[in-house]
Amino acid sequence: MSDPHELVVLNPATEEVVATVPAASEEDVAAAVVRATRAQPGWAALAPADRARLLRRFADTVDAHLEELAQLEVREAGHTVGNARWEAGNARDLLLYAAGGAERLLGKQIPVPGGWNVTFQEPLGVVGVIAPWNFPMPIAAWGSFPALAAGNAVVLKPAETTPLTALRLAELALQAGLPEHVFQVLPGHGHTAGRALVDHPDVAKIVFTGSTRTGREVMERCARLVKPVTLELGGKSPNIVFADADLTTALDPFSFLDNSGQDCCARTRILVQETVLEEAREFLADALAAVVVGDPADEKTQMGPLISRQQLDRVRSYVPEDAPALRGSAPDGPGFWFPPTVLTGERPDGRAAREEIFGPVAVLLPFTDEQDAVRLANDTPYGLSGSLWTRDLGRALRVSQAVRAGNLSVNSHSSVRYWTPFGGFKQSGLGRELGPDALTAFTETKNVFISNVSPSTEGPAQ
Ligand code: NDP
Repeated sequence: MSDPHELVVLNPATEEVVATVPAASEEDVAAAVVRATRAQPGWAALAPADRARLLRRFADTVDAHLEELAQLEVREAGHTVGNARWEAGNARDLLLYAAGGAERLLGKQIPVPGGWNVTFQEPLGVVGVIAPWNFPMPIAAWGSFPALAAGNAVVLKPAETTPLTALRLAELALQAGLPEHVFQVLPGHGHTAGRALVDHPDVAKIVFTGSTRTGREVMERCARLVKPVTLELGGKSPNIVFADADLTTALDPFSFLDNSGQDCCARTRILVQETVLEEAREFLADALAAVVVGDPADEKTQMGPLISRQQLDRVRSYVPEDAPALRGSAPDGPGFWFPPTVLTGERPDGRAAREEIFGPVAVLLPFTDEQDAVRLANDTPYGLSGSLWTRDLGRALRVSQAVRAGNLSVNSHSSVRYWTPFGGFKQSGLGRELGPDALTAFTETKNVFISNVSPSTEGPAQ
Protein backbone atom coordinates (compact mmCIF):
# COMPACT_ATOMS: atom_id res chain seq x y z
CA MET A 1 0.00 0.00 0.00
CA SER A 2 1.53 3.32 -1.02
CA ASP A 3 1.94 6.19 1.46
CA PRO A 4 -1.01 8.55 1.06
CA HIS A 5 1.16 11.57 1.86
CA GLU A 6 4.25 10.92 -0.24
CA LEU A 7 5.17 9.74 -3.73
CA VAL A 8 8.41 7.81 -4.09
CA VAL A 9 9.74 8.17 -7.64
CA LEU A 10 11.86 5.19 -8.69
CA ASN A 11 14.25 4.91 -11.60
CA PRO A 12 12.66 1.94 -13.41
CA ALA A 13 16.02 0.90 -14.87
CA THR A 14 17.70 0.55 -11.46
CA GLU A 15 14.91 0.67 -8.83
CA GLU A 16 16.87 3.47 -7.10
CA VAL A 17 14.92 6.34 -5.54
CA VAL A 18 15.11 9.43 -7.76
CA ALA A 19 13.01 11.69 -5.52
CA THR A 20 10.24 11.79 -2.97
CA VAL A 21 7.45 14.27 -3.53
CA PRO A 22 4.59 15.27 -1.21
CA ALA A 23 1.27 13.88 -2.42
CA ALA A 24 -1.54 16.42 -2.75
CA SER A 25 -4.59 15.78 -0.56
CA GLU A 26 -8.20 16.62 -1.45
CA GLU A 27 -7.76 19.87 0.51
CA ASP A 28 -4.64 20.75 -1.50
CA VAL A 29 -6.61 20.26 -4.72
CA ALA A 30 -9.44 22.45 -3.43
CA ALA A 31 -6.95 25.20 -2.50
CA ALA A 32 -5.28 24.98 -5.92
CA VAL A 33 -8.66 25.34 -7.62
CA VAL A 34 -9.41 28.45 -5.54
CA ARG A 35 -6.05 29.97 -6.57
CA ALA A 36 -6.65 29.05 -10.21
CA THR A 37 -10.16 30.52 -10.13
CA ARG A 38 -8.74 33.82 -8.86
CA ALA A 39 -5.90 33.90 -11.39
CA GLN A 40 -7.86 32.90 -14.50
CA PRO A 41 -9.84 36.11 -15.23
CA GLY A 42 -6.65 38.19 -15.41
CA TRP A 43 -5.03 35.64 -17.73
CA ALA A 44 -8.12 35.57 -19.95
CA ALA A 45 -8.26 39.36 -20.03
CA LEU A 46 -4.77 39.65 -21.56
CA ALA A 47 -4.79 40.59 -25.22
CA PRO A 48 -4.33 37.37 -27.20
CA ALA A 49 -1.04 38.68 -28.58
CA ASP A 50 0.26 39.20 -25.03
CA ARG A 51 -0.82 35.73 -23.95
CA ALA A 52 0.86 34.34 -27.06
CA ARG A 53 4.05 36.26 -26.27
CA LEU A 54 4.22 34.77 -22.76
CA LEU A 55 3.62 31.26 -24.10
CA ARG A 56 6.39 31.74 -26.69
CA ARG A 57 8.70 32.85 -23.89
CA PHE A 58 7.67 29.70 -22.00
CA ALA A 59 8.59 27.68 -25.12
CA ASP A 60 12.00 29.38 -25.25
CA THR A 61 12.54 28.56 -21.57
CA VAL A 62 11.63 24.91 -22.20
CA ASP A 63 14.02 24.92 -25.15
CA ALA A 64 16.83 26.23 -22.97
CA HIS A 65 16.22 23.32 -20.55
CA LEU A 66 15.52 20.62 -23.12
CA GLU A 67 18.40 18.36 -22.17
CA GLU A 68 17.66 18.69 -18.46
CA LEU A 69 13.99 17.78 -19.04
CA ALA A 70 14.98 14.84 -21.24
CA GLN A 71 17.43 13.49 -18.65
CA LEU A 72 14.75 13.82 -15.96
CA GLU A 73 12.37 11.80 -18.14
CA VAL A 74 15.05 9.13 -18.60
CA ARG A 75 15.44 8.82 -14.83
CA GLU A 76 11.81 8.89 -13.75
CA ALA A 77 10.20 7.02 -16.68
CA GLY A 78 13.04 4.88 -18.07
CA HIS A 79 12.60 6.29 -21.57
CA THR A 80 15.52 6.04 -23.95
CA VAL A 81 17.34 9.34 -24.11
CA GLY A 82 16.49 9.77 -27.80
CA ASN A 83 12.78 9.39 -27.11
CA ALA A 84 12.99 11.66 -24.07
CA ARG A 85 14.54 14.44 -26.18
CA TRP A 86 11.71 14.06 -28.69
CA GLU A 87 9.20 14.34 -25.84
CA ALA A 88 10.67 17.55 -24.43
CA GLY A 89 10.82 18.95 -27.98
CA ASN A 90 7.17 18.00 -28.49
CA ALA A 91 6.18 19.99 -25.38
CA ARG A 92 8.11 23.01 -26.67
CA ASP A 93 6.66 22.74 -30.18
CA LEU A 94 3.13 22.42 -28.89
CA LEU A 95 3.61 25.59 -26.84
CA LEU A 96 4.59 27.47 -29.99
CA TYR A 97 1.66 26.01 -31.94
CA ALA A 98 -0.82 26.83 -29.17
CA ALA A 99 0.59 30.36 -28.82
CA GLY A 100 -0.25 30.98 -32.49
CA GLY A 101 -3.73 29.61 -31.85
CA ALA A 102 -4.32 32.18 -29.09
CA GLU A 103 -4.07 34.91 -31.73
CA ARG A 104 -6.42 33.12 -34.14
CA LEU A 105 -9.21 32.07 -31.80
CA LEU A 106 -11.94 33.89 -33.67
CA GLY A 107 -15.70 34.06 -33.40
CA LYS A 108 -18.14 34.56 -36.29
CA GLN A 109 -20.57 37.24 -37.34
CA ILE A 110 -23.79 35.88 -38.77
CA PRO A 111 -26.31 38.23 -40.44
CA VAL A 112 -29.84 37.37 -39.31
CA PRO A 113 -33.22 39.09 -39.80
CA GLY A 114 -33.41 42.14 -37.55
CA GLY A 115 -29.72 42.39 -36.78
CA TRP A 116 -26.52 40.43 -36.38
CA ASN A 117 -25.34 37.53 -34.39
CA VAL A 118 -21.79 37.57 -33.12
CA THR A 119 -20.17 34.51 -31.59
CA PHE A 120 -17.34 34.55 -29.07
CA GLN A 121 -15.08 31.67 -28.03
CA GLU A 122 -14.81 32.22 -24.29
CA PRO A 123 -12.46 30.28 -22.01
CA LEU A 124 -14.10 27.70 -19.75
CA GLY A 125 -12.35 28.81 -16.55
CA VAL A 126 -10.29 26.21 -14.67
CA VAL A 127 -9.39 23.03 -16.56
CA GLY A 128 -8.27 19.86 -14.76
CA VAL A 129 -5.75 17.68 -16.59
CA ILE A 130 -5.01 14.12 -15.42
CA ALA A 131 -1.96 12.60 -17.11
CA PRO A 132 -0.59 9.05 -17.18
CA TRP A 133 3.00 7.84 -16.81
CA ASN A 134 3.65 6.54 -20.30
CA PHE A 135 4.43 9.91 -21.95
CA PRO A 136 4.54 12.25 -18.95
CA MET A 137 5.69 15.39 -20.79
CA PRO A 138 3.81 15.27 -24.09
CA ILE A 139 0.49 14.25 -22.55
CA ALA A 140 0.73 16.89 -19.83
CA ALA A 141 1.43 19.39 -22.62
CA TRP A 142 -1.41 18.28 -24.92
CA GLY A 143 -4.01 18.76 -22.21
CA SER A 144 -2.56 21.90 -20.66
CA PHE A 145 -1.02 24.17 -23.28
CA PRO A 146 -3.98 24.64 -25.67
CA ALA A 147 -6.16 25.21 -22.58
CA LEU A 148 -3.77 27.93 -21.38
CA ALA A 149 -3.62 29.50 -24.83
CA ALA A 150 -7.42 29.75 -24.88
CA GLY A 151 -7.32 31.74 -21.61
CA ASN A 152 -8.00 29.02 -19.06
CA ALA A 153 -6.10 28.24 -15.87
CA VAL A 154 -4.89 24.65 -15.57
CA VAL A 155 -4.49 22.33 -12.60
CA LEU A 156 -2.53 19.27 -13.71
CA LYS A 157 -2.25 16.00 -11.81
CA PRO A 158 0.57 13.89 -13.22
CA ALA A 159 0.80 10.14 -12.61
CA GLU A 160 2.13 9.25 -9.18
CA THR A 161 5.08 7.38 -10.72
CA THR A 162 6.20 10.28 -12.96
CA PRO A 163 5.57 13.72 -11.43
CA LEU A 164 9.02 15.28 -11.92
CA THR A 165 9.00 16.63 -15.48
CA ALA A 166 5.55 18.16 -14.97
CA LEU A 167 6.74 19.90 -11.79
CA ARG A 168 9.74 21.23 -13.67
CA LEU A 169 7.52 22.51 -16.50
CA ALA A 170 5.46 24.45 -13.95
CA GLU A 171 8.66 26.05 -12.57
CA LEU A 172 9.76 26.96 -16.09
CA ALA A 173 6.36 28.55 -16.78
CA LEU A 174 6.85 30.88 -13.80
CA GLN A 175 10.42 31.60 -14.87
CA ALA A 176 9.10 32.58 -18.30
CA GLY A 177 6.71 35.08 -16.73
CA LEU A 178 3.36 33.29 -16.76
CA PRO A 179 1.23 34.68 -13.93
CA GLU A 180 1.23 32.70 -10.69
CA HIS A 181 -1.40 29.94 -10.33
CA VAL A 182 -2.34 29.94 -14.00
CA PHE A 183 -0.50 26.62 -14.48
CA GLN A 184 -0.32 24.53 -11.32
CA VAL A 185 0.98 20.99 -11.04
CA LEU A 186 -0.26 18.85 -8.13
CA PRO A 187 1.33 15.42 -7.87
CA GLY A 188 -0.88 12.99 -6.02
CA HIS A 189 -2.76 9.74 -6.07
CA GLY A 190 -5.53 9.14 -8.56
CA HIS A 191 -8.05 7.96 -6.01
CA THR A 192 -7.60 11.10 -3.86
CA ALA A 193 -6.17 14.08 -5.79
CA GLY A 194 -7.42 12.83 -9.18
CA ARG A 195 -10.94 12.25 -7.93
CA ALA A 196 -10.97 15.58 -6.07
CA LEU A 197 -10.13 17.39 -9.31
CA VAL A 198 -12.83 15.52 -11.24
CA ASP A 199 -15.45 16.14 -8.53
CA HIS A 200 -14.65 19.81 -7.92
CA PRO A 201 -17.61 21.95 -9.02
CA ASP A 202 -15.34 24.85 -10.05
CA VAL A 203 -13.29 22.73 -12.44
CA ALA A 204 -15.04 23.37 -15.74
CA LYS A 205 -13.58 20.53 -17.80
CA ILE A 206 -11.48 17.39 -17.33
CA VAL A 207 -8.92 16.10 -19.80
CA PHE A 208 -8.04 12.54 -18.88
CA THR A 209 -5.52 10.19 -20.48
CA GLY A 210 -5.10 6.68 -19.17
CA SER A 211 -6.82 3.33 -19.01
CA THR A 212 -10.33 2.77 -20.30
CA ARG A 213 -11.34 1.48 -16.87
CA THR A 214 -10.38 4.69 -15.04
CA GLY A 215 -11.63 6.81 -17.95
CA ARG A 216 -15.06 5.25 -17.57
CA GLU A 217 -15.11 6.21 -13.88
CA VAL A 218 -13.96 9.77 -14.66
CA MET A 219 -16.73 10.12 -17.24
CA GLU A 220 -19.37 8.86 -14.79
CA ARG A 221 -18.24 11.34 -12.15
CA CYS A 222 -18.17 14.19 -14.67
CA ALA A 223 -21.70 13.26 -15.76
CA ARG A 224 -22.99 14.02 -12.26
CA LEU A 225 -21.90 17.64 -12.70
CA VAL A 226 -22.61 17.74 -16.47
CA LYS A 227 -18.91 18.51 -16.85
CA PRO A 228 -17.35 18.18 -20.30
CA VAL A 229 -14.58 15.63 -20.54
CA THR A 230 -11.98 14.65 -23.10
CA LEU A 231 -10.86 11.03 -22.80
CA GLU A 232 -7.78 9.56 -24.45
CA LEU A 233 -7.92 5.90 -23.49
CA GLY A 234 -6.54 2.51 -24.39
CA GLY A 235 -5.77 0.95 -27.72
CA LYS A 236 -5.13 -2.38 -29.40
CA SER A 237 -4.12 -1.11 -32.78
CA PRO A 238 -3.72 -3.24 -35.89
CA ASN A 239 -0.76 -3.25 -38.23
CA ILE A 240 -2.29 -4.58 -41.47
CA VAL A 241 0.37 -5.95 -43.80
CA PHE A 242 -0.70 -7.01 -47.29
CA ALA A 243 1.47 -9.39 -49.29
CA ASP A 244 2.53 -6.66 -51.74
CA ALA A 245 4.03 -4.47 -48.96
CA ASP A 246 7.70 -3.98 -48.25
CA LEU A 247 7.86 -6.28 -45.23
CA THR A 248 11.05 -4.78 -43.82
CA THR A 249 9.43 -1.39 -43.17
CA ALA A 250 5.91 -2.70 -42.54
CA LEU A 251 7.18 -5.04 -39.81
CA ASP A 252 9.44 -2.52 -38.08
CA PRO A 253 9.34 -3.89 -34.52
CA PHE A 254 9.37 -0.37 -33.08
CA SER A 255 5.79 -0.06 -34.28
CA PHE A 256 4.99 -1.86 -31.01
CA LEU A 257 8.26 -1.65 -29.05
CA ASP A 258 8.63 2.10 -28.92
CA ASN A 259 8.56 3.25 -25.29
CA SER A 260 8.75 -0.45 -24.33
CA GLY A 261 5.27 -0.88 -25.76
CA GLN A 262 3.79 1.51 -23.20
CA ASP A 263 2.13 3.47 -25.95
CA CYS A 264 -1.60 3.73 -26.53
CA CYS A 265 -0.94 3.80 -30.31
CA ALA A 266 1.34 0.73 -30.32
CA ARG A 267 0.53 -1.59 -33.23
CA THR A 268 0.18 -4.67 -31.06
CA ARG A 269 -1.91 -6.77 -33.43
CA ILE A 270 0.28 -7.63 -36.41
CA LEU A 271 -2.13 -8.79 -39.11
CA VAL A 272 -0.23 -10.39 -41.99
CA GLN A 273 -1.63 -11.77 -45.24
CA GLU A 274 -1.25 -15.53 -44.96
CA THR A 275 0.78 -15.91 -48.16
CA VAL A 276 3.69 -14.01 -46.54
CA LEU A 277 3.18 -15.21 -42.96
CA GLU A 278 6.27 -17.41 -42.86
CA GLU A 279 8.45 -14.67 -44.33
CA ALA A 280 7.05 -12.24 -41.74
CA ARG A 281 7.77 -14.65 -38.91
CA GLU A 282 11.39 -15.05 -40.00
CA PHE A 283 11.86 -11.32 -40.38
CA LEU A 284 10.38 -10.60 -36.94
CA ALA A 285 12.51 -13.28 -35.26
CA ASP A 286 15.68 -11.61 -36.55
CA ALA A 287 14.40 -8.10 -35.83
CA LEU A 288 13.52 -8.90 -32.19
CA ALA A 289 16.88 -10.57 -31.61
CA ALA A 290 18.63 -7.40 -32.82
CA VAL A 291 16.82 -4.94 -30.50
CA VAL A 292 19.22 -3.34 -28.01
CA VAL A 293 17.50 -3.41 -24.61
CA GLY A 294 19.24 -1.85 -21.63
CA ASP A 295 20.32 1.36 -19.88
CA PRO A 296 18.00 4.05 -21.27
CA ALA A 297 20.61 6.75 -20.67
CA ASP A 298 22.96 5.05 -23.15
CA GLU A 299 22.62 6.65 -26.60
CA LYS A 300 22.80 3.22 -28.28
CA THR A 301 19.89 1.72 -26.35
CA GLN A 302 16.71 1.16 -28.33
CA MET A 303 14.38 -0.07 -25.60
CA GLY A 304 14.34 0.61 -21.88
CA PRO A 305 12.50 -0.94 -18.93
CA LEU A 306 8.82 -0.97 -18.04
CA ILE A 307 7.65 1.72 -15.66
CA SER A 308 7.10 -0.36 -12.51
CA ARG A 309 7.03 -3.78 -10.88
CA GLN A 310 3.24 -3.68 -11.11
CA GLN A 311 3.42 -3.14 -14.87
CA LEU A 312 6.03 -5.88 -15.23
CA ASP A 313 3.76 -8.34 -13.38
CA ARG A 314 0.85 -7.31 -15.57
CA VAL A 315 2.80 -7.84 -18.80
CA ARG A 316 4.12 -11.22 -17.58
CA SER A 317 0.56 -12.36 -16.95
CA TYR A 318 -0.11 -12.22 -20.70
CA VAL A 319 2.95 -14.27 -21.70
CA PRO A 320 3.14 -17.77 -20.18
CA GLU A 321 6.69 -19.15 -20.36
CA ASP A 322 5.61 -21.97 -22.67
CA ALA A 323 3.60 -19.72 -25.03
CA PRO A 324 4.68 -20.04 -28.68
CA ALA A 325 6.52 -16.79 -29.28
CA LEU A 326 9.43 -14.98 -30.92
CA ARG A 327 11.54 -13.40 -28.23
CA GLY A 328 14.38 -10.91 -27.97
CA SER A 329 16.45 -10.50 -24.83
CA ALA A 330 16.38 -8.20 -21.81
CA PRO A 331 18.69 -7.60 -18.82
CA ASP A 332 18.06 -9.31 -15.49
CA GLY A 333 17.06 -7.14 -12.52
CA PRO A 334 17.36 -4.76 -10.82
CA GLY A 335 14.95 -2.82 -12.97
CA PHE A 336 11.67 -3.77 -14.60
CA TRP A 337 12.74 -5.57 -17.77
CA PHE A 338 10.74 -7.56 -20.27
CA PRO A 339 12.05 -8.83 -23.63
CA PRO A 340 10.54 -7.85 -26.98
CA THR A 341 7.98 -10.57 -27.70
CA VAL A 342 5.64 -11.59 -30.52
CA LEU A 343 3.09 -14.25 -29.60
CA THR A 344 2.61 -16.56 -32.57
CA GLY A 345 0.04 -19.04 -31.28
CA GLU A 346 -2.61 -16.60 -30.05
CA ARG A 347 -6.19 -16.74 -31.35
CA PRO A 348 -7.93 -13.49 -32.35
CA ASP A 349 -10.30 -13.91 -29.40
CA GLY A 350 -7.51 -14.71 -26.90
CA ARG A 351 -6.81 -12.39 -23.97
CA ALA A 352 -3.45 -11.17 -25.33
CA ALA A 353 -5.06 -10.38 -28.69
CA ARG A 354 -7.91 -8.38 -27.18
CA GLU A 355 -6.64 -6.55 -24.09
CA GLU A 356 -4.25 -3.61 -23.91
CA ILE A 357 -1.08 -5.14 -22.44
CA PHE A 358 1.05 -1.97 -22.40
CA GLY A 359 4.35 -3.75 -22.73
CA PRO A 360 6.68 -4.92 -25.54
CA VAL A 361 4.30 -7.68 -26.62
CA ALA A 362 2.42 -8.10 -29.90
CA VAL A 363 0.40 -10.93 -31.41
CA LEU A 364 0.89 -12.20 -34.96
CA LEU A 365 -2.36 -13.11 -36.73
CA PRO A 366 -2.88 -14.19 -40.35
CA PHE A 367 -5.65 -12.93 -42.65
CA THR A 368 -6.83 -14.19 -46.01
CA ASP A 369 -7.98 -11.15 -48.01
CA GLU A 370 -8.97 -7.50 -47.71
CA GLN A 371 -12.37 -8.25 -46.19
CA ASP A 372 -10.85 -10.56 -43.61
CA ALA A 373 -8.20 -7.95 -42.74
CA VAL A 374 -10.83 -5.29 -42.11
CA ARG A 375 -12.95 -7.69 -40.06
CA LEU A 376 -9.99 -8.58 -37.84
CA ALA A 377 -8.83 -4.97 -37.55
CA ASN A 378 -12.27 -3.92 -36.31
CA ASP A 379 -12.73 -6.90 -34.00
CA THR A 380 -11.82 -4.94 -30.87
CA PRO A 381 -13.57 -2.60 -28.46
CA TYR A 382 -10.80 -0.08 -29.14
CA GLY A 383 -10.29 2.28 -32.09
CA LEU A 384 -7.30 4.52 -31.54
CA SER A 385 -4.68 3.94 -34.23
CA GLY A 386 -3.49 1.58 -36.89
CA SER A 387 -1.30 1.15 -39.95
CA LEU A 388 -1.90 -0.45 -43.29
CA TRP A 389 0.73 -1.42 -45.80
CA THR A 390 0.11 -2.00 -49.49
CA ARG A 391 1.25 -0.69 -52.87
CA ASP A 392 -2.36 -0.67 -54.13
CA LEU A 393 -3.74 2.86 -53.69
CA GLY A 394 -7.35 1.80 -54.20
CA ARG A 395 -7.02 -0.81 -51.46
CA ALA A 396 -5.32 1.70 -49.16
CA LEU A 397 -8.26 4.06 -49.58
CA ARG A 398 -10.89 1.34 -49.08
CA VAL A 399 -9.25 -0.11 -45.98
CA SER A 400 -8.56 3.26 -44.37
CA GLN A 401 -12.24 4.12 -44.80
CA ALA A 402 -13.38 0.78 -43.40
CA VAL A 403 -11.20 0.62 -40.28
CA ARG A 404 -12.90 2.25 -37.29
CA ALA A 405 -10.05 4.17 -35.65
CA GLY A 406 -9.22 7.81 -35.03
CA ASN A 407 -5.65 7.83 -36.37
CA LEU A 408 -4.58 5.67 -39.28
CA SER A 409 -1.34 5.64 -41.24
CA VAL A 410 -0.91 4.31 -44.77
CA ASN A 411 2.58 2.92 -45.41
CA SER A 412 3.78 4.51 -42.18
CA HIS A 413 3.71 3.87 -38.45
CA SER A 414 3.56 7.51 -37.46
CA SER A 415 0.48 8.53 -35.45
CA VAL A 416 0.98 11.76 -33.62
CA ARG A 417 1.64 15.19 -35.02
CA TYR A 418 0.74 18.28 -33.03
CA TRP A 419 -0.78 19.89 -36.16
CA THR A 420 -3.39 17.19 -36.60
CA PRO A 421 -6.28 15.96 -34.43
CA PHE A 422 -5.63 12.98 -32.18
CA GLY A 423 -8.18 10.77 -30.44
CA GLY A 424 -10.07 7.52 -30.51
CA PHE A 425 -13.21 5.83 -31.78
CA LYS A 426 -15.20 3.41 -29.63
CA GLN A 427 -13.71 2.71 -26.16
CA SER A 428 -10.47 4.49 -27.06
CA GLY A 429 -11.96 7.78 -26.03
CA LEU A 430 -14.00 10.85 -26.55
CA GLY A 431 -13.06 14.16 -28.15
CA ARG A 432 -9.85 15.18 -29.87
CA GLU A 433 -6.62 16.79 -28.77
CA LEU A 434 -4.02 18.63 -30.86
CA GLY A 435 -4.64 19.95 -34.36
CA PRO A 436 -6.35 23.13 -35.51
CA ASP A 437 -9.36 22.75 -33.20
CA ALA A 438 -7.42 22.05 -30.01
CA LEU A 439 -8.07 25.49 -28.53
CA THR A 440 -11.76 25.55 -29.39
CA ALA A 441 -12.20 22.43 -27.26
CA PHE A 442 -11.28 24.62 -24.26
CA THR A 443 -13.88 27.29 -24.96
CA GLU A 444 -17.61 27.82 -24.75
CA THR A 445 -19.29 29.42 -27.74
CA LYS A 446 -21.29 32.46 -26.76
CA ASN A 447 -23.82 33.80 -29.23
CA VAL A 448 -24.90 37.46 -28.91
CA PHE A 449 -27.71 38.95 -30.98
CA ILE A 450 -27.40 42.67 -31.76
CA SER A 451 -30.63 44.26 -32.96
CA ASN A 452 -30.43 46.69 -35.88
CA VAL A 453 -33.59 48.47 -34.78
CA SER A 454 -32.72 51.90 -33.38
CA PRO A 455 -34.10 52.51 -29.93
CA SER A 456 -36.82 55.14 -29.79
CA THR A 457 -35.38 58.60 -28.96
CA GLU A 458 -38.61 59.65 -27.29
CA GLY A 459 -38.22 57.42 -24.27
CA PRO A 460 -40.76 55.00 -22.96
CA ALA A 461 -44.42 55.79 -23.58
CA GLN A 462 -46.11 57.45 -20.58
P1 NDP B 1 -4.87 4.85 -14.87
O1 NDP B 1 -5.74 5.06 -16.02
O2 NDP B 1 -5.49 4.34 -13.61
O3 NDP B 1 -4.09 6.21 -14.50
C1 NDP B 1 -3.99 7.34 -15.33
C2 NDP B 1 -4.05 8.60 -14.50
O4 NDP B 1 -5.31 8.68 -13.82
C3 NDP B 1 -2.99 8.68 -13.38
O5 NDP B 1 -2.63 10.02 -13.18
C4 NDP B 1 -3.77 8.15 -12.19
O6 NDP B 1 -3.22 8.50 -10.96
C5 NDP B 1 -5.11 8.80 -12.42
N1 NDP B 1 -6.21 8.14 -11.73
C6 NDP B 1 -6.28 6.86 -11.28
N2 NDP B 1 -7.49 6.63 -10.71
C7 NDP B 1 -8.19 7.77 -10.80
C8 NDP B 1 -9.50 8.18 -10.40
N3 NDP B 1 -10.32 7.32 -9.80
N4 NDP B 1 -9.91 9.43 -10.65
C9 NDP B 1 -9.09 10.31 -11.27
N5 NDP B 1 -7.83 10.00 -11.66
C10 NDP B 1 -7.38 8.74 -11.45
O7 NDP B 1 -3.69 3.88 -15.33
P2 NDP B 1 -2.63 3.07 -14.46
O8 NDP B 1 -1.45 3.94 -14.23
O9 NDP B 1 -3.27 2.47 -13.25
O10 NDP B 1 -2.22 1.91 -15.50
C11 NDP B 1 -3.02 0.75 -15.62
C12 NDP B 1 -3.17 0.33 -17.06
O11 NDP B 1 -3.83 1.34 -17.80
C13 NDP B 1 -1.86 0.14 -17.81
O12 NDP B 1 -1.35 -1.12 -17.61
C14 NDP B 1 -2.27 0.37 -19.24
O13 NDP B 1 -2.80 -0.80 -19.79
C15 NDP B 1 -3.37 1.38 -19.12
N6 NDP B 1 -2.88 2.75 -19.42
C16 NDP B 1 -3.16 3.22 -20.64
C17 NDP B 1 -2.72 4.48 -21.00
C18 NDP B 1 -3.02 4.99 -22.36
O14 NDP B 1 -2.56 6.07 -22.70
N7 NDP B 1 -3.75 4.26 -23.14
C19 NDP B 1 -1.91 5.30 -20.11
C20 NDP B 1 -1.68 4.71 -18.82
C21 NDP B 1 -2.15 3.48 -18.52
P3 NDP B 1 -2.15 7.50 -10.26
O15 NDP B 1 -0.92 7.65 -11.03
O16 NDP B 1 -2.05 7.97 -8.87
O17 NDP B 1 -2.75 6.11 -10.36
